[in-house]
Amino acid sequence: MTGRTVFRQDGVIVPEEVLQGFAASVRGNVIRPGDEIYEAARRVWNGMINRFPAMILYCRDTTDVIKAVDFARTNKLLAAVRSGGHNVAGNAVCEGGLVIDLSLMKGIDIDAASRIARADAGLTWGEFDQATHLYGLATTGGLVSSTGIAGLTLGGGIGWLMRKFGLTCDNLLSVRIVTADGQHLIASEEENADLFWGLRGGGGNFGIITSFTYRLHPAAQVLAGMIIYPADNAATLLRFYRDYISLIPEGLTTMFLFLTLLPAPELPERLFGMRAIAVYFCYTGDADEGLKAMQPLRETFSPVAGSVGVMPYPRFQSMFDLNAPPGLLNYWKSVYLDALSDPCIDTITEYAAGMTSPLTQVHIQHMQGAVSRVPEEAMAFSHRNAFCSLNIVSKWKDPDESDEHVAWTRAFAGALMPFSDGVYVNFLGDEGEERVRAAYTPDKYAQLSALKKKYDPENFFRLNQNIRPARSGR
Ligand SMILES: Cc1cc2nc3c(=O)[nH]c(=O)nc-3n(C[C@H](O)[C@H](O)[C@H](O)COP(=O)(O)OP(=O)(O)OC[C@H]3O[C@@H](n4cnc5c(N)ncnc54)[C@H](O)[C@@H]3O)c2cc1C
Repeated sequence: MTGRTVFRQDGVIVPEEVLQGFAASVRGNVIRPGDEIYEAARRVWNGMINRFPAMILYCRDTTDVIKAVDFARTNKLLAAVRSGGHNVAGNAVCEGGLVIDLSLMKGIDIDAASRIARADAGLTWGEFDQATHLYGLATTGGLVSSTGIAGLTLGGGIGWLMRKFGLTCDNLLSVRIVTADGQHLIASEEENADLFWGLRGGGGNFGIITSFTYRLHPAAQVLAGMIIYPADNAATLLRFYRDYISLIPEGLTTMFLFLTLLPAPELPERLFGMRAIAVYFCYTGDADEGLKAMQPLRETFSPVAGSVGVMPYPRFQSMFDLNAPPGLLNYWKSVYLDALSDPCIDTITEYAAGMTSPLTQVHIQHMQGAVSRVPEEAMAFSHRNAFCSLNIVSKWKDPDESDEHVAWTRAFAGALMPFSDGVYVNFLGDEGEERVRAAYTPDKYAQLSALKKKYDPENFFRLNQNIRPARSGR
């Protein structure tokens, strides 16, 4: 659908003068099919997503967001909400309808004495981290610097600081939100507390966040790095890793990866193309303590490469950027694992050995620590006791290869189901209602559904990992 005629969801045409009236009423730029930048503007990070919105509004301020919500609701337009545009499911763009884009809203105020940051929703983690780093402060954020703070925070937020300081949503103090009826509210423990409960894990279901207020922590420098091993001994290595991470201090967050080594300046050429295991680690606290804690990883299984050092936190935070360029074809499947049992490890290593694309990686992120100390009932985010999150990150370039890579990813994820307990909502693709429910405990899903009925009874915000409004009488 590339024409400029705009249809409501009931098939009625929206008159051109109504569209032009809307465009003239907002401060931000409205992009439509045929405009020079439309092609770039309709794209998101995942190259698999190929949708043609009728309009894209790059909001300049909260008033634009309110006007966009009112306009889409009144004219029965499907609405998508985009901040960083990273979500693999691609819900940040719609076919037809209006994309409400917040990526130009990038203000940030830091109160260093109180260790608080108020950040506009259009910031990426790279931008946020650079700003807070000026004060030697940080909060848990995503591993790739171009990821948006908005989508990540609303789903939970797992990252290098989580075992010490909790998830991103555990550090959220309040938000400003535009709800489906166009109201602009504050949600915090004190104001609209039910909504605040749902926003911490419930994703984009309840409205559009215009700004987030976070608690910050001292984390100017971290001791961090990675170690690379040949993949031959993967099962033994993963067993060792399981036992090792069960004993490490909370300051140490680690991640175990299956990957193919691609040309990179820090790697000797002889390793290019080799199937490998990498363990990445980040220690927050005293560097000597950190070195001691990660020593077993460096002494065992004859690593073929590696580096470790004290560095500014934002530098380590962007170390994965080269692994995650925009535009590649991506298909992900993820599960939480309560434990890494021997049969589970055998299944993981068997499938990982058959990886079908050299760009694909399998990420095992160790959780626990401060994450599992927050009471499960505190907020919508669920499965706090998970031992780790496993994400099969399939990537490739050639569309003709899609069937092969998707089939491998599905088979791998299917084989993990007997070991899995739930899923992290932010790693879900377009996988249907059952998988959205799997992101929450049944009680919490029911609570979220009641909250959705209260704040968005018509399911205006439906392009997301959708929680259906509870039906009357339930
Ligand atoms: C390369 C890569 C690395 C990642 N690394 C991590 C990681 O380290 N840790 C982690 O926890 N997750 C990670 N993720 C997952 C990430 O948390 C989600 O993809 C998240 O949705 C990205 O946020 P975004 O603002 O960029 O998303 P977008 O694609 O812009 O939005 C995704 C959805 O979030 C909602 N949304 C976005 N903005 C708003 C808003 N302002 N108000 C209300 N709802 C909104 C909408 O429902 C939208 O469909 C990663 C993803 C990628 C692609």
